[in-house]
Amino acid sequence: MTKRLYYDSAEMHEFDSVVEEVAPPSSEQSRPAVVLRETAFYPTSGGQVHDTGWLTVNGGDCGAERLRVTEVADAEDGRIVHYLEAPARLPVAGAAVHGSIDPERRRDHMQQHSGQHVLSAAFIELYQMLTVSFHMGEDYCSIDLATPSVSSGQIAGADKRANQIVFENRAVRIRYVSRAEAEKLGLRKLPPAEHDDLRLVEIADFDLSACGGTHVSASGQIGSILLRKTEKVRQGTRVEFVCGDRAVRMARRDYSALSEAAALFSTQLWDVPDQIRKNVEESKLLRKQKDDALDQLAELMALAALHDQPETNGRKIIVRAFSDRDIGFAKLFAQKVTRVATPAIALVASTVDPLGLVFAQTPAQASGGAAGSAADMGALLKQVLSSVGGRGGGSRDFAQGGVPAGCNVKVEQLLREAAVTIGA
Ligand SMILES: [Zn+2]
Repeated sequence: MTKRLYYDSAEMHEFDSVVEEVAPPSSEQSRPAVVLRETAFYPTSGGQVHDTGWLTVNGGDCGAERLRVTEVADAEDGRIVHYLEAPARLPVAGAAVHGSIDPERRRDHMQQHSGQHVLSAAFIELYQMLTVSFHMGEDYCSIDLATPSVSSGQIAGADKRANQIVFENRAVRIRYVSRAEAEKLGLRKLPPAEHDDLRLVEIADFDLSACGGTHVSASGQIGSILLRKTEKVRQGTRVEFVCGDRAVRMARRDYSALSEAAALFSTQLWDVPDQIRKNVEESKLLRKQKDDALDQLAELMALAALHDQPETNGRKIIVRAFSDRDIGFAKLFAQKVTRVATPAIALVASTVDPLGLVFAQTPAQASGGAAGSAADMGALLKQVLSSVGGRGGGSRDFAQGGVPAGCNVKVEQLLREAAVTIGA
């Protein structure tokens, strides 16, 4: 078992040790790894992520070699494995090493982890909500609470209470007890019965829990605790939070985003939601006005086209290719043509890339069963498009299709072909 120096001092960033095992890269593990007699490197466990840093190996005549530790893991048998960025030379068992941990990363983890203990205890104290899991991510941390929901009032309450504990700068102490003693102490959470000796983290007169993590020595070092969004998860409710420097950085990032939004609206930060609401309403209204105008335009254009077009075999066939209107408008136009006049056929296209076609006719019932509407728009469209590799389909009275973007197709020719097929 590797001796864990971080158990007794979370502030220890430098240490000396001896290499016990060396594992060169293999087919299962592409990175080399070393096990030391003792280490201050924290391995990913209990929700806290691993440290990173350096191992300096005294290589005798070859001089010292600096090895980058990129990941640290807990092996099942109690050894701590340090994974290395592939070095030029691997150390040998028995070599003396000096370890250095990245201090900023360690401090950040201490702030997040101690902050989590405070927050979990605050949720218990105020609302009897038990923390069932803790996750420390790159950007933010989260706890899962065993409760179906957490109100915004409860979030504000827990935030306030947790920060109060931070401001009071309460002592955070580590102590070891037997399992039997721990059971009498009333821990926030008792770990599964694996070990007889338990390491307890105590926040003076506030929280006592079993934990193997690295913690601050006084709650003031957490800096601040900022609760963020909540989310429903399988085991309850997830609460996102950040502590210390992360809270400051995240607040700064939020402020920048909000300032940018406020500048776009030429307003104050706190007026941004109102401005957005107003803009959403306005754009809804504008969209409706635009739709109404297009509808009227399509109707007028349909009437004009029908007016100019003489009847052929008792029906009017309107052929039109729009180069400045999209397929949506072409469809609207075709609907108007076949609704306004009976019987009528509309062979319409939009050449706005990708090219689209709409074939429509007045339904047989509406046209009084006149012989003039006895064509099949779906079949006609398929026939016309198959010659150019396009796809489409529809019913007897309405069909829509297109050709893939970038296809060089003469749309007027397609429409003419269709018109000839139905005997225009
Ligand atoms: Zn913990």
